[in-house]
Amino acid sequence: MKALVYQGPNCLALEERPKPSIQDPTDAIVKVTHTTICGTDIHLLQNEIPCNPDCILGHEGVGIIEAIGSGVTNFYPDQLVLISCITSCGYCLHCRKGMPSNCLSGGFTLGNKIDGTQAEYVRVPHASFSLHLLPDTIDRKASVLLSDVFPTAYECGIRNGQIRPGSRVAIIGPGPIGLAALSMLKSLFGPALVVVIGRGKSRLDAAKAAGADHTLSTLDGIGELTERSNALTGDRGFDVVIEAVGSKQAFEISQALVAAGGTIATLGVYGSKCDLHLEKLWNRNICLKTGLVDTVSTPELLEMAKAGILRPESLVSHNFSLDEIEQAYTVVRAASEHGTMKVVITI
Ligand SMILES: [Zn+2]
Ligand SMILES: [Zn+2]
Repeated sequence: MKALVYQGPNCLALEERPKPSIQDPTDAIVKVTHTTICGTDIHLLQNEIPCNPDCILGHEGVGIIEAIGSGVTNFYPDQLVLISCITSCGYCLHCRKGMPSNCLSGGFTLGNKIDGTQAEYVRVPHASFSLHLLPDTIDRKASVLLSDVFPTAYECGIRNGQIRPGSRVAIIGPGPIGLAALSMLKSLFGPALVVVIGRGKSRLDAAKAAGADHTLSTLDGIGELTERSNALTGDRGFDVVIEAVGSKQAFEISQALVAAGGTIATLGVYGSKCDLHLEKLWNRNICLKTGLVDTVSTPELLEMAKAGILRPESLVSHNFSLDEIEQAYTVVRAASEHGTMKVVITI
């Protein structure tokens, strides 16, 4: 089968690899029909977070079950499924606490520790808890955004941010996750103010079109940004700052903009250390939440997508075939040049 393989830092190639087979009774083999490229794949590629050499990349996908192990009793071959970006055993200490991100034999493994979804077939361990049945009525291509983008935006941004009706919210990072958070919080939570902060003009324009009340550019510098935010919030700051970039600058901005008693919900992938300014924040009663997605909200999100409350298709900007996946990586890496939001790879 064809698969996109990580060959080392900044080096990937579409290779011919053996088709995976069942290794454990809890496995499923899924014929991938759609996958996508995540910002995390770029971090892996740039060696900012570790990736096993020769690993097939990709942790998001939709496909059709080809085979199941003898221990999988809730799925059958030929079913259309969503592959969660987090594999979950369902019974370890962390899974039983509702935190499969830290599953002792799973978590974020697909596409970095074990072969992932940017391939014609993928072996999904712990299939009973790591797959979700997709209804035929759902847009199959766009539902690939329910593997990671929407659960991350919802769990790590909206829920961790403790957003309530009337909240003043800043979203730093108008990428797919930032815009998914924007669309969900606008349609579900009634915020008083949503300001999206980022760099690329095309993405800030997309945020405005998706319902942001205001957009601010990080290119203006943190001083100017703080001044403009103060003007928008009456010098109070934001009740919730969703940090969806994962950079030193984004973390600095989050701390500068959070209101007294507010929450910073950071969901960026950090490859290096950042300063936490407790000398300024110790008496501000803030809450800092970090988070790798648990994907425990996926069943609810699927219901919302089925009911038309979520519109994942609105975030798909480019379509490619698996043969074109290296070109798709170029389009993701140069997002502002190409106006890239989310790419979908059809296999
Ligand atoms: Zn991802
Ligand atoms: Zn577990």
